[in-house]
Amino acid sequence: MRYSQTLIPTLKETPAEAEVVSHRLMLRAGFIRKLSAGIYSYLPLGLAAIRKVENIVREEMNRAGAQEILMPMVQPADLWIETGRYEKYGPELLRFKDRHNRESCLGPTHEEVITDIARKELHSYRDLPINLYQIQTKFRDEIRPRFGLMRGREFVMKDAYSFDVSDEAATLSYQKMYEAYKRIFSRCGLQYRAVQADSGSIGGNFSHEFMVLAETGEDTIVVCKSCEYAANMEKAVVVVEKKEQTEPLAELEKIETPGKRKVTAVCDFLKIEPTQLVKTMVFKADGVPVAVLVRGDREVEDVKLKNLLGVAEVEMADDKEVFDATGVPTGYLGPVGIKIKVVADQEVANMQNFYVGGNEKNYHLKNVNLERDCVIDGMADLRQITTSDPCPECGGKLGLTEGIEVGHIFKLGTGYSESMNATFQDKDGKDKHLVMGCYGIGVTRIVAAAIEQNNDDNGIIFPLPIAPVSVVILNLGINDAVITDAAEKLYSEFLSAGVQVLIDDRDERPGFKFKDADLLGTPFRVTVGKGFAKTGLVEVKTRKDGKVEEMTPEKALSTLQEKIVAALR
Ligand code: ATP
Ligand code: MG
Repeated sequence: MRYSQTLIPTLKETPAEAEVVSHRLMLRAGFIRKLSAGIYSYLPLGLAAIRKVENIVREEMNRAGAQEILMPMVQPADLWIETGRYEKYGPELLRFKDRHNRESCLGPTHEEVITDIARKELHSYRDLPINLYQIQTKFRDEIRPRFGLMRGREFVMKDAYSFDVSDEAATLSYQKMYEAYKRIFSRCGLQYRAVQADSGSIGGNFSHEFMVLAETGEDTIVVCKSCEYAANMEKAVVVVEKKEQTEPLAELEKIETPGKRKVTAVCDFLKIEPTQLVKTMVFKADGVPVAVLVRGDREVEDVKLKNLLGVAEVEMADDKEVFDATGVPTGYLGPVGIKIKVVADQEVANMQNFYVGGNEKNYHLKNVNLERDCVIDGMADLRQITTSDPCPECGGKLGLTEGIEVGHIFKLGTGYSESMNATFQDKDGKDKHLVMGCYGIGVTRIVAAAIEQNNDDNGIIFPLPIAPVSVVILNLGINDAVITDAAEKLYSEFLSAGVQVLIDDRDERPGFKFKDADLLGTPFRVTVGKGFAKTGLVEVKTRKDGKVEEMTPEKALSTLQEKIVAALR
């Protein structure tokens, strides 16, 4: 690759719209350009990094016995209507009509299409197990596309789907993918962690997310300091020991709390702790208002609420919606006599003689007791875990860190095969539903996540396996025959050795070339400079640790070749 003939439009200035370092650096290094919100063009070096990730993913999927296919991006609505997801998927699914007025959508994921293939092509237990994958562009009309390739609307995903004869066989397929994923993320040079993830209606520990540890991550991960337990916050189980009810039940009392709506204001006014109060929060569960009770100092975990209610979406109701549903202004809502469905976090069952809103402006109630005073439609672990909670597996101390989800594996069971009637004939001659799993990797997101983890003030520091090129040669004397000959010779020798190399043959100042080389994050830099004619030595710099060594071009070739082979092993 010749710098002078390659489109690498680096920028000196930091683009104002980029909020996170990977987005800034990918723009500055000339890897990507924005077309519209969440939609990017990949320029030569950006694409090269994406291809590197794709190849690692492809090799490991093939090694695990999966077969590569490529499915259409445009999908007929009919398939999605069969599974009920045409309605349920919400506005992330981009729907449109073709010239024949047929409803279609752009694939955000491919369960429907793959299950359609399976029901037509897989007939017998002899066809199973099978795992089919693709590396393909997805479209999701994300509500908040941001952070460049991290959360795009159009992005590259690897999605795989396994089909098995039984639940036990599907567990094996799942475990194979778990192992393949570990290899993929290690090979990409990422620091990551596999964490238990929410598995919705399937239950059990059959959903894992692979998280790249980085401050800018949108997910919070709970990690035990004593054992192996790690889970997405959404899934982390809060263990609450049932307490004996020891206090006598006191008489319910209405108390005036003029203008006191927030927990802190109520507590200050009544001189009580938030742990003595129960918050009543109204959520819209698939549009229907539901009140949720949690202790005053706790936060509701949406995913847990969604699972308890069995709905697709929950969203906090705004003041008007609360008032319309309950006739009570927010801040004074309580469970006693409330008009809508009420569910409670398990911890509330341990509380006695607590405080709640009085369902009347400027009033609260004192000495409320759940069993005596409230009608509850459901109780479960509904709150966010905190670092004061014990590890659900060993009781140890928990820590919280941020992570970027780069992969997700999921045991699907027979949900899709039942709704689309995808069956096979088993050994006993009976027709059974295919047991499925699905496995995603955010290919473009990996490149962004790797940069989040590996950068400094001067630019990107690519892990070698996913670097667009492994070596950059700087020719610092393009009008000097000796320097140019040496640089060009080294360039062809690297090429012949199969090393991916970029030669900076532009007529630019040395300082300019050094800056760009650092920005691009190429793992090794070889500089052929002014001193070469005298010493016969070139300078080799490692981007990661900044170490500089002088050596002959021959030595540079052999040393770097060795290092590269070792790093890719
Ligand atoms: P998220 O919670 O980040 O929205 P998701 O649960 O919707 O992710 P999946 O449906 O499991 O994601 O998709 C598989 C993988 O695709 C994810 O693990 C992630 O790496 C990647 N991915 C999902 N949405 C995006 C996006 N908008 N931009 C880039 N990559 C994405
Ligand atoms: Mg999503």
